[in-house]
Amino acid sequence: MRRDPHSYADDSQVETASLALRARVDFASKTLAAEAQLVFARPGGGRLDLDTRDLAIERVVGPGGELRFTLHPAEPILGARLAIELPEGTPWVRVHYRTSPHASALQWLEPAQTAGGVQPYLFSQCQAIHARSVVPLQDTPRIRIRYEAELAIPRALKAVMAARKVERTETGDDAIERFEMPQPIPPYLFAFAVGDLAARDLGARSRVWAEPAMLERAAHEFSDTERMIAAAEELFGPYDWERFDILTMPPSFPYGGMENPRLTFITPTVIAGDRSLVSVIVHELAHSWTGNLVTNANAEHFWLNEGFTVYAERHLLEKLYGADHAALHAAIGRSSLEEDLARFHDRPELTRLRTHLAGVDPDDAYSQVPYEKGYAFLRALEQTAGQDAFTAWLRSWLREYRFRSATTEDFEAHVERALPGMLARVGAREWLDGAGLPANAPVPRSAQLAAVEALGSALPGDRELASWTPTEWELYLARMPRPAPEATLRALDGRLTASTNYEVLVAWLQLALESGYRAVVPRASEVLGTVGRMKYLRPLYTALASDPATRATARELFARHAASYHPIARQVIEGVLA
Ligand SMILES: [Zn+2]
Repeated sequence: MRRDPHSYADDSQVETASLALRARVDFASKTLAAEAQLVFARPGGGRLDLDTRDLAIERVVGPGGELRFTLHPAEPILGARLAIELPEGTPWVRVHYRTSPHASALQWLEPAQTAGGVQPYLFSQCQAIHARSVVPLQDTPRIRIRYEAELAIPRALKAVMAARKVERTETGDDAIERFEMPQPIPPYLFAFAVGDLAARDLGARSRVWAEPAMLERAAHEFSDTERMIAAAEELFGPYDWERFDILTMPPSFPYGGMENPRLTFITPTVIAGDRSLVSVIVHELAHSWTGNLVTNANAEHFWLNEGFTVYAERHLLEKLYGADHAALHAAIGRSSLEEDLARFHDRPELTRLRTHLAGVDPDDAYSQVPYEKGYAFLRALEQTAGQDAFTAWLRSWLREYRFRSATTEDFEAHVERALPGMLARVGAREWLDGAGLPANAPVPRSAQLAAVEALGSALPGDRELASWTPTEWELYLARMPRPAPEATLRALDGRLTASTNYEVLVAWLQLALESGYRAVVPRASEVLGTVGRMKYLRPLYTALASDPATRATARELFARHAASYHPIARQVIEGVLA
């Protein structure tokens, strides 16, 4: 039976326990030439269905030699099923293959697209269902694997992986880098990067990696990391992944961060110089427990990863930076949720926490709903159950599902056992299976927040101008009614268009464009040509495309920059412009 709508994995077949990958990274052809050995939890026989996307399969072998296989035609969303016939008692198979230059998980950067400008760069982004474009495997988070990997790369470069480094050897123009991943992971957490990389220690178990030109600024920005890990351990218990290293990505990285275990990937757009945007690090760190230890069984239960992580993130922000700071973040989150609820007004089924995604690409379903509605639901549950009872429940949930995957039904059963009647009291069915935001959603409150909200579309006074943090600016801009008054826009233009804090800048550009204030089009165009983070691309392209006067500009900009965006971002923006 297939239990994940986004995978051919069938639970009547053998199950992979570990992967041994050898791959040669070829920047000239933008391909990996690789062999992947899949070792099964128990030897078995019969058919094995693996997920692949755009892979050229050359041979499949088992202990007894060549095995018969069929690579079926690709289906939309899923990719191509690789069916292998296994003789009874087969303990492993090895697939020899090549990736495509268009592999959806991989972005190959030309030297000109890097900070250094001399060496090329390669990185992977496997969530949600892109691991199959790099490795043929059972690409479902229900099946966790350990792995070892050997990457052959140009000697001038370094490879990093969300795994433990074993060794590097050099011969001729090549270097071989070996890694092992002792903790079992869902395949979407398989991750690596190759480039001109340097590292600096942040503490005993954390280090930041970046291109040399970025390293100093990155180390300064992320200097709070050890303190964050300590705070998270107080909330959740011991950190189970040994190291929490950070890789500062090139600007085209499509997300704010990706919680790859042992090596979180972070967008360089959070490097504001004043540590004002490091909540992204707190978020990715929290995933070490929620998401990476306790993992959604498939994309239909994504809120179990993200809602829990936003809940944890805001608790940590409160602990580290105070209650006002956390409340501002919650209010910004609520605004972005409301925006996405409006965006999905004709697809209300995607605004449920428990979704049904057969025939739906998880990248198309992506929104703030699992994050912010999930967060609001957990806060409602916390308020109904009481802080202590809820925290005790949360710890028992993390303990019971440690290194396992979970469904929303598992969640319901677990809460019902520990806190009988609580789900009914909070109206859990409406939260989980209803569209939109239930009326009992908690409203974030704080004095600082109330002061910002009271302004509406009036201009901030001298006191605010002198004291506001970027977070207050962001909230003020997000909450302002559209179209904003012309005089307000003109005054803000002088102050914000030159901002280098991306959260503030993009919130401002979005407000200006949505208010028909076209003086900012050149600055918006500049941003779209500089970064590839979808959080910024989507609102700016949407705003430009919804105004008839700038629709052509949106298309021109996309035509010019599409090649420099990650394949996942490219697909999303194609959807926006369609
Ligand atoms: Zn997350």
